[in-house]
Amino acid sequence: MIRTGQDYRDSLGAGREIWVDGERVKDVTTHPMFAPIVNIRARIYDMAHEAATRDTMSYVDSETGERNSVSCKLPRTQQDWIDKRAAIDAVLDEARGVVTRVGDETVGEMWSLYDGQDVLNEVDPQFAENIRRHIARSVREDPFHVSANTDPKGDRSKRPQDQDPDMLLHVVRETDSGIVVRGAKYETAAAYANQAFAKPTIANWGDAELSDYAVGFILDMDALGLKYLCRTGFAGRGSAADYPLSNRVDEMDTLVVFDDVEIPWENVLFYRHTRAATFIRATLHRYSALPFTQRNLRLADLMIGAALWNVKQTGLERQQAVQEKLAQLACYREGINAHLTAAIAMGQRSPGGLLMPEQSLLYTGRVLATTQLPAMMHLARELCGGQICITPDVASFENADTAPWLEKYYTINDSWVADDRRKLLAFARDLLNSDYAGHRLTFQLFAQSPPFAHLAAVYRNFDWSGPLDMVRSAADLSENVK
Ligand SMILES: Cc1cc2nc3c(=O)[nH]c(=O)nc-3n(C[C@H](O)[C@H](O)[C@H](O)COP(=O)(O)OP(=O)(O)OC[C@H]3O[C@@H](n4cnc5c(N)ncnc54)[C@H](O)[C@@H]3O)c2cc1C
Repeated sequence: MIRTGQDYRDSLGAGREIWVDGERVKDVTTHPMFAPIVNIRARIYDMAHEAATRDTMSYVDSETGERNSVSCKLPRTQQDWIDKRAAIDAVLDEARGVVTRVGDETVGEMWSLYDGQDVLNEVDPQFAENIRRHIARSVREDPFHVSANTDPKGDRSKRPQDQDPDMLLHVVRETDSGIVVRGAKYETAAAYANQAFAKPTIANWGDAELSDYAVGFILDMDALGLKYLCRTGFAGRGSAADYPLSNRVDEMDTLVVFDDVEIPWENVLFYRHTRAATFIRATLHRYSALPFTQRNLRLADLMIGAALWNVKQTGLERQQAVQEKLAQLACYREGINAHLTAAIAMGQRSPGGLLMPEQSLLYTGRVLATTQLPAMMHLARELCGGQICITPDVASFENADTAPWLEKYYTINDSWVADDRRKLLAFARDLLNSDYAGHRLTFQLFAQSPPFAHLAAVYRNFDWSGPLDMVRSAADLSENVK
């Protein structure tokens, strides 16, 4: 069943305690820092109804006859992944920028736990039943689902018990109806989402004493005791004409405080279970790394477009040295594309019977995309030239005293008049140079776990036996070496 944008807006409870810049936010649907991204999320719901995009964004379930969202569909075939990529592209086309934490990229974290039902059954079969029910619900009801992994963590040289215990989210007591949890998590989009999959951050789950911290559950964002402490927004810091991306696609990150929040048993996925915590940490992104990395592909396209338009308008694109820099950007872009395409083409059956993108190709693709991003942004910045950071804002282009001078110096030829050059430079500045640009870079670096965890995923999934066997043969090693 597909929701409408209005259904989604109506679902954002007015009672939430949301704060930004020291002020209580009454309504995220109208607040200037939240409204742009809420509008995009609402548009995604509406796109599933509109004739032009309906078949890209949704499908008819063969059993129920209901129309459901492509992004929440459990992936069982290569075509499912091709469809998911097309739906993400449609969303990014509509957003005219990169939005990541809008649901499609986080829902896959639950599919990883679906693959871990055997592990959950060890503790309590009810927990495996809970994950199946929540996945079925996500397919049927299409809630806006986000991700809660990262705690403030405090002093890492100490055990959680030896400092303020709330530095990591933990269970404080059980009640007849569930567990009560306390702590905090960083979550992008939490203030305007419906639910999150909360699970432990990267920590030593082998220590039984940490077991109160080994807890995973589906969090209803309207639960009592939650406080949303948001970072300031980029929307409204400058005009939309000067900062188009900041004003259109900024995603609000939040420290969500759990001040004794009761989680009903039906939402608990594991509790006091270090093996389940270890399992989910090791497999968390086996599906969701694909939509996450696809966002780098879009960033690459936007960088190529901004750089190429710039050198075309200045007549520099015929210079061989400029073409080589553009070619480097194209290699980055196609490197990501190749990893995503091949990971789908060589998809693997998961323990739960789903189709995982081929894991080694997917995780190496994520490392390529994130580690090369700073260098590629710098290359695009270089191709755009210094004018992206020294061009006056739109107000000067409109002021009667200054406009003639800016018209003169920013008009290049008949097809590139000052207004278009100003727009291109403003777009490139917001993509590559602004506060928003720096934030987006950090988001791509960290939002799906830190770089060391990306490399750990590569280490766990690369098949080391091939190179070992080759060298055993090529160096004529004995069968005894291990
Ligand atoms: C813009 C943004 C959005 C985010 N959105 C979300 C979200 O929606 N949901 C969510 O759960 N989290 C989110 N995060 C949090 C993100 O997952 C964390 O930033 C990340 O896990 C790293 O944790 P940390 O920031 O506490 O860094 P720290 O743990 O303090 O690590 C800092 C650095 O120390 C080094 N380091 C630390 N531990 C190790 C180790 N064990 N081995 C090797 N090196 C180590 C690494 O260089 C690491 O990068 C977001 C982060 C950002 C920046």
